[in-house]
Amino acid sequence: MSTVLDTTAQAPGVPAPVRTGLRWNNRYAQLGPAYVTALAPQSLPATHPPYWVGQSRAVGDWLGLAPDWTTSEDLLAALTGNAPLVGSAPVATVYSGHQFGVWAGQLGDGRALLLGEVQGETDSGLEIQLKGAGRTPYSRMGDGRAVLRSSIREFLASEAMHALGVPTTRALCVTGSDAPVRRETVETAAVVTRVAPSFIRFGHFEHFASREQFDELRVLADYVIDRYYPECRTTDAYQGNAYAALLAAVSERTAVLLAHWQAVGFCHGVMNTDNMSILGLTLDYGPYQFLDGYDPGHICNHSDTQGRYAYARQPNVAYWNLHALAQALMPLIEDETLAQAAVDVYRERFPLELDLRYRAKLGLRTEQADDRPLLEATLRLLAGERTDYTIFWRRLSQHVAASVRGASEAQALRDLFIDTAPFDAWLGRYETRLSQENQPDSAHTMLSVNPKFVLRNWLGEQAIRRAREQDQSGVARLLALLERPHDEHPGHEAEAGFPPDWASSIEISCSS
Ligand code: AMP
Ligand code: MG
Repeated sequence: MSTVLDTTAQAPGVPAPVRTGLRWNNRYAQLGPAYVTALAPQSLPATHPPYWVGQSRAVGDWLGLAPDWTTSEDLLAALTGNAPLVGSAPVATVYSGHQFGVWAGQLGDGRALLLGEVQGETDSGLEIQLKGAGRTPYSRMGDGRAVLRSSIREFLASEAMHALGVPTTRALCVTGSDAPVRRETVETAAVVTRVAPSFIRFGHFEHFASREQFDELRVLADYVIDRYYPECRTTDAYQGNAYAALLAAVSERTAVLLAHWQAVGFCHGVMNTDNMSILGLTLDYGPYQFLDGYDPGHICNHSDTQGRYAYARQPNVAYWNLHALAQALMPLIEDETLAQAAVDVYRERFPLELDLRYRAKLGLRTEQADDRPLLEATLRLLAGERTDYTIFWRRLSQHVAASVRGASEAQALRDLFIDTAPFDAWLGRYETRLSQENQPDSAHTMLSVNPKFVLRNWLGEQAIRRAREQDQSGVARLLALLERPHDEHPGHEAEAGFPPDWASSIEISCSS
């Protein structure tokens, strides 16, 4: 088929194709020209040779790359877009979407390029994308590039979220180049290599529905069902309507995702429908933020002037986005009652999932009637003084662990509050409830779900500033902490501490 680029042909002056030993089977590209445009990544100028900025060995293993990939000059070139990979069939995919609640029409991979799909070590298929490898037919006014700062942020966040147990796309590496990229100021180019079972978004469905390309819509839905949700074909639920079952399954995964985000204090920042994964993965890390102080109204994206995507609004936005997906699937589902029932799976499932996560954070393994009021009181307590979210949960875990040893670390917890009376009242209530639990078990659970390290903006910023000075060690050091966020990592108390004063001057916007 003509849409698949022959990456093995070598023209004069073009770098030799790079072999990886990966087994490729580029199934999305095979859907054809209605879905993808074949094109090769665009090289960065040879005057600015690429260098490694960050690497995830775990993702390399997941893909099945030989361990020496981390020192391969050939792979460095290929993952910067400067040389083709043998077996890949690079394409940009088309999608549309709602941005900030408004229909935005056609979007698409404007700077992401799907290299193809490989077999992977443990999975049935893993797609590999380069982000920042040049313009595509969907770039609109953009340059198809990504800058170093946003690429480091995406790389670290992907791996940090995975380590926290949050469903997410992964990242193999970031490569950089000193080639200039113009944003508000002149920055330098970087490319992230992302990995996921699929990068299909709600927006892919919205695209074909909005154009009334219902045959293409059906082929896409069938592809997603057959590849990722085969149980939808055989279920009796939803009157045996596989497309309604698909919508319900996506609603369920999205509920699980949002419960994870809220519990870990993650703000996505740009929950447009084109950034919503059909597999319920965290996708497209832009102006995201892990909460410092607990503020339900926190807006992490400086471009979000209305606060549409404020932390506490995220669960409702996800529900709104699922309605946009439902609308797109209506030509296939054909029955509004079924579609509504499928979307409402989200409403039933989200509070249950959230409860599950918060119960673990509180160390409550048995269920009691007034656990929910206790949880609400906990969050009210934190909101009252915008108490540091991560530090609170970690110190609470340590306090419970200390109690098991017959010690007390209540003072370290109390120190987080200026007004100690409401805190003491809360602690008394909590300890009464906790006394009905097996406390060694509670302490164990709490220390394994309440991380010591999250990717706060200032930590990422520090690694970025070093990387700009050609010192990549900050990225590697931070990755090592974030890959094991629940471990103590002695000697790294600063990274687990309060943000420094200068952190409040960091502004994160959509510019990336
Ligand atoms: P985002 O806000 O990153 O989710 O991107 C929204 C849309 O803009 C997507 O279609 C992107 O591919 C596209 N886009 C963002 N940045 C660029 C860029 N620098 N060059 C080309 N397209 C871009
Ligand atoms: Mg996006």
